[in-house]
Amino acid sequence: MEFEGYCVKQKKRTKAKDAQEVTMKNGRKALKGVCSECGTVMFKILGTK
Ligand SMILES: [Zn+2]
Repeated sequence: MEFEGYCVKQKKRTKAKDAQEVTMKNGRKALKGVCSECGTVMFKILGTK
């Protein structure tokens, strides 16, 4: 599973791979993955606009 997110290391939008759905402390769902270019952990918050 992949998603597009913001890589804080490269300061640009990249594709994240190995995405998993996780629930954060505040109860929100997010996708957690690693940047396909540099391996930095990336999150994408689900269900916000
Ligand atoms: Zn990156």
